[in-house]
Amino acid sequence: RIAYVNGQYLPHRDASVHIEDRGYQFADGVYEVVTIVGSRMIDEEGHLDRLWRSLGELRIDAPMKREPLKMVMREVIRQNGIRDGIIYLQVTRGVAPRDHPFPDDIPTSLVMTAKRLSMEKAAKKAQEGVSVITVPDIRWTRRDIKSVSLLPNVLAKQEAKENGAYEAFQVDEDGMVTEGSSTNAWIVSKEGKIVTRPTSNSILAGITRASLIRELEKNGIELELRSFSVEELLSAREVFITSSTSYVLPVVKVDDQVIGNGHPGLISLKLRKIYEKFMSADA
Ligand code: PLP
Repeated sequence: RIAYVNGQYLPHRDASVHIEDRGYQFADGVYEVVTIVGSRMIDEEGHLDRLWRSLGELRIDAPMKREPLKMVMREVIRQNGIRDGIIYLQVTRGVAPRDHPFPDDIPTSLVMTAKRLSMEKAAKKAQEGVSVITVPDIRWTRRDIKSVSLLPNVLAKQEAKENGAYEAFQVDEDGMVTEGSSTNAWIVSKEGKIVTRPTSNSILAGITRASLIRELEKNGIELELRSFSVEELLSAREVFITSSTSYVLPVVKVDDQVIGNGHPGLISLKLRKIYEKFMSADA
């Protein structure tokens, strides 16, 4: 495997950053994960728009202009020989002696890795559905920034894993679901409406979420953009999640509550199909 680190393509095992990188010391950085299908990036522009927005919100300089960055991403995919998988891209404020305020005039750090993912395994998981647990949302109030500060997400996912679940839905102080630790949360309500939370500082504006919403609109499928409570989640007809690595993934159990008949819902599976079609057109 090959990694890109600040201008160099290096064997993955030899790739490293300085101990005083602010990403390491302060989680002072942002990232993106982009799906690769047929060696091409899905929603490349959406991910780059969000990257630039995250950088802007934190006043971190872009490591390079957009076009050269795209070329580096393509080169990382090519050098790793990835057909289907993901590319990970991280930008931090850079390396400087540890001190909280922004350092003056240092170059930002840019790191990229890529890895293969099995489409077959993903398809099998979608056919079976996954389970999720609910946990309190203990994150900061700028969840719209795709920051590498992921400790609450790590703790939530670990709790899911220890409970034999795939994902943890985080719940705000009002008892409303925000999102998964690395996914957006959706339900098909008792009334049969597809529901997902509107974007705000409370959730990450998922690129998969945005593309699915666009595909729903194209297909004339109705959508309710509103928050939903844990209570509504537990009594939903269907539940599913979206993310760059999960696509559209049906959920068949939440905490101890079986959703529907315990098998992926028809609407969830249909939306996965619609999303897969979009991916093959975008790739
Ligand atoms: N929400 C959170 C907290 C995430 O970390 C992610 C992705 O990693 C998502 C949602 C889904 O976003 P996307 O569809 O852009 O992968």
